[in-house]
Amino acid sequence: MRIILLGPPGSGKGTQAQLLVQRYGIVQLSTGEMLRAAVAAGTPVGLKAKEIMAGGGLVPDEVVVGIISDRIDQPDAKNGFILDGFPRTVPQAEALDDLLRHKHLKLDAVIELRVNESALLSRVETRVAQMRERGEEVRVDDTPEVLTRRLASYRSQTEPLIHYYSERRKLSTIDGMMAIDEVTRAVHRQLLALGAVEPKTHARSAAQAAPAKKAAKKAKSAKKTARKPAKAAKKAAKPAKPAKKAGKGAKKAAKKTVKKTVKKAVKKTAKKAVKKAVKKGSKTGPKKVTKKRAKR
Ligand code: ADP
Repeated sequence: MRIILLGPPGSGKGTQAQLLVQRYGIVQLSTGEMLRAAVAAGTPVGLKAKEIMAGGGLVPDEVVVGIISDRIDQPDAKNGFILDGFPRTVPQAEALDDLLRHKHLKLDAVIELRVNESALLSRVETRVAQMRERGEEVRVDDTPEVLTRRLASYRSQTEPLIHYYSERRKLSTIDGMMAIDEVTRAVHRQLLALGAVEPKTHARSAAQAAPAKKAAKKAKSAKKTARKPAKAAKKAAKPAKPAKKAGKGAKKAAKKTVKKTVKKAVKKTAKKAVKKAVKKGSKTGPKKVTKKRAKR
């Protein structure tokens, strides 16, 4: 699977890319990260990019296209990749089309994360605060002034790509203002709808451990079994009928508590049972993992 994540700085591209990497076993190709590594290592590319990046401008197209072309050729990108931060200009998108054509590779989707601009500054501020807390080095371009310039360059140079990919029927737009896991689910749904992923990729860790049909069967039956105690929990959690006097409000509240308790009990038991089955299954089916992976 080969996809592009499109969105302004702070839209959550990096976060989503990492989650997608875990889920689908493909690599994240972030030009920003690669350039930062080049700057840190003091390579010729790094020396070229350093000042431009610090000022919030864009590194020349041919530099990033060269980096990406080399990176796509590496063995770990064979299964697929997520492009994060590339392409950023129309010439970069055209160059990517060319190089994918030459390498006989197909782009599956371009996912645009749409966010309210007013949220971006505070998101970046939160990111900076969290990095400081973890004792990590903060990006030199994560300041309000440079962010404003990065946003301006997104608007003028990168936003035209929305039109570019929409014309080519590649674009899917997702509301990037939702919670992180909701965005991930929405991306997954889109990829499913586009046929870019197989329907079962939703539980990669489970698939990794026990993709064999046997294990899946076991998990299913475990879930079934788990439903039984859930029934008991439902019964146990059922309160005595509220007195008529208690009125609608009390009835509603009581119902809510029962629902919550039951939901919790079901979830817990089912989770345990499935985990157990999956664990068991993992001993039986590593062969099919390879088969399935190789298919992607
Ligand atoms: P963000 O998307 O949060 O702004 P990135 O980490 O993707 O940050 O990029 C950081 C900087 O690296 C950019 O501001 C730009 O200077 C440079 N850069 C990254 N990708 C590209 C690209 N595809 N083309 C040109 N410059 C890039």
